[in-house]
Amino acid sequence: MRGDTARADFVIEIRERYGDVARNCWPVSVDPFPDELLSSWLHRLALANGIAPRSFAGVLGLSEGMWSPRLDLRLPRHVAGLLADQTSVPQEAISAMMMSACASAPLLLPLRENAHRNRSTWMQYCPQCFAADDAPYFRPQWRLASRVSCFAHGCGLRDRCPACHAGIATFDQGELVPQHFCVRCRFDLRAAPKASVKAAARRLERAIADICRVELARGWPKIGDAVSRVLSMPAAADLGSRRTLTNLSTAARIRCFEALAAKPPDWLVNDTDSAGAYRRWMIVAAGGHDALIARFADFLETHQGSPRRKRTPPAADRSALFAAYFRVMQPGGVRASARSRRARPPAPH
Ligand SMILES: [Zn+2]
Ligand SMILES: [Zn+2]
Repeated sequence: MRGDTARADFVIEIRERYGDVARNCWPVSVDPFPDELLSSWLHRLALANGIAPRSFAGVLGLSEGMWSPRLDLRLPRHVAGLLADQTSVPQEAISAMMMSACASAPLLLPLRENAHRNRSTWMQYCPQCFAADDAPYFRPQWRLASRVSCFAHGCGLRDRCPACHAGIATFDQGELVPQHFCVRCRFDLRAAPKASVKAAARRLERAIADICRVELARGWPKIGDAVSRVLSMPAAADLGSRRTLTNLSTAARIRCFEALAAKPPDWLVNDTDSAGAYRRWMIVAAGGHDALIARFADFLETHQGSPRRKRTPPAADRSALFAAYFRVMQPGGVRASARSRRARPPAPH
């Protein structure tokens, strides 16, 4: 028997002799969604097999508490092997759902079972994503302090239940209830009111995500520099908080992004080498890397003398554009020409 969804009315009462009846393979295998976090898949897998997430920790030989968020960060080999053996999901696909240990790991929200009202929680969510999902699931990017809005829906993320203000605690769910219901009060999180984020703040958020992604993908030695600047955003925003970004609630981080979006991006580029400063400045000014590439395509067309088109076609050779872009950004490239198309970039240091 297979199934992809876990529904509140889908109840299988086989808890008592589960080990006897499901010794070799669990009754239901749940396929992960693309871009699903490991803990989210584990909760859906447990529910589909008639086991409450809190009890599923014991099935995996783990103690209760934040057992599943911890597996997102570190998955013991024997647990990965057990999951692969008991489901039809390959071990590589299971490992791929973890939060990869990369240079941006310091941006992860800390694991807190109970967080004070104005502190961060370990997980955020988008009510509209949940509403659009066949079976609501959690995305890895919602674990990052540098994310405050949904790129798909343009609304702010939430980190608490709007009814009882508890954080996400599906790992502690003792009933057969899907994970888009608050564990503490059963509020349907799909009905959470829309949180707004100013457009300028969303542009800055996307630019920061792109800067981290681009610098990480190119093995840029300064990725640690970008991450530490993002962590220090509350100080740069001058909102009176000494905490790092990862310790602020989503609402406080939204205020932080909105305050910094109204300022020049000096806090992100000061005291870096000129090539790095120009690259970051241009991504922020364009509102993201894709927007920058589109502008760069226009720039190339203009300087190559080809007829100007109204819009870059979606099938444009993006890798060639990337290569050309980074050639231009090298010292001695045609950076000065690129500069002339923009307003004043930061002064070289
Ligand atoms: Zn969304
Ligand atoms: Zn609640």
